[in-house]
Amino acid sequence: MLILLSWIACTGTSKDSTSTDDSAVQESNTTDDSGSSDVRSFENCGTSVAEDVPEFYKKYFLCSTITVDNGDVVITTENLPPYKTYYYGEGDPNYAAWDDRGGDYHPNPNTLAAGTISARIPSDPVSKGLSITSALVDLQMGTSNEEFSGGPQGVSTDSIAMFNSTAAPGDDILDEEFTFDEWGSHPAGTTYHHHGANAGSLAALQYSGLVTSTTPGSTEAEVHGIMCDGTVLLGCLELDGSTVSGSLDAQNGHVGDIKDGSATYFSGRYHIHMCASLGNYGLAPEIQAYEDCGIVPGR
Ligand SMILES: [Zn+2]
Ligand SMILES: [Zn+2]
Repeated sequence: MLILLSWIACTGTSKDSTSTDDSAVQESNTTDDSGSSDVRSFENCGTSVAEDVPEFYKKYFLCSTITVDNGDVVITTENLPPYKTYYYGEGDPNYAAWDDRGGDYHPNPNTLAAGTISARIPSDPVSKGLSITSALVDLQMGTSNEEFSGGPQGVSTDSIAMFNSTAAPGDDILDEEFTFDEWGSHPAGTTYHHHGANAGSLAALQYSGLVTSTTPGSTEAEVHGIMCDGTVLLGCLELDGSTVSGSLDAQNGHVGDIKDGSATYFSGRYHIHMCASLGNYGLAPEIQAYEDCGIVPGR
């Protein structure tokens, strides 16, 4: 069940200063705290986006600090979900009881904690020129040098780490996903993360009035985030709401302009459609299409 053990070993377990102190936690236990300022939410999560950051990030990303440095976009997050989940742990204002969704889902033993992640997204990524076939996309960690590494490899629109689509050797991501909470996520060690299309990313878009549903694949244009190499993570449609056309590679990826109305956010950019009905179980990319991944996980 635990994945990415080597990475976890390097991870700090300290609570972030935005967490409440013990007295606040105890007070909130006895009341419905949905309106309490103790509860982390999209309202109070501290979105900070610099003026010169490209419009794409301004429009879709919440709860992160985003700046431009040397032309690269730098996204920094404390990786604390701005919604309630079981994985905050009992006593936390953001704790929610486990929902087993008909008995299929069971929690893993971990509890999430803050941990700073900083992703440097190249503005003009260099393609590795790979042909991403089913031989490369096997959902198994460590079977190719072209894979994204384990641990945080992207940032979602809700500020949560995006991991690749693999589980640790011996584990199966398609079994492990039954430890996902209602937001499509779970912690490895203390690091809460997504592995694909998820309700948390869509909750960020919903908060901004960009979608009406948090269920992936609900016939709305979805942005789930971006990987460290510059691969953009969309849902079942193109960002302008059009149907995906042309052939997709084995992780539902292809190159194309990413635009929304008259705005073109990325020209000729590799992106994947994390959409179960298009294949690959709606999962994140396994294979890194562009050369560089600049990401600093940990405290
Ligand atoms: Zn995981
Ligand atoms: Zn596309």
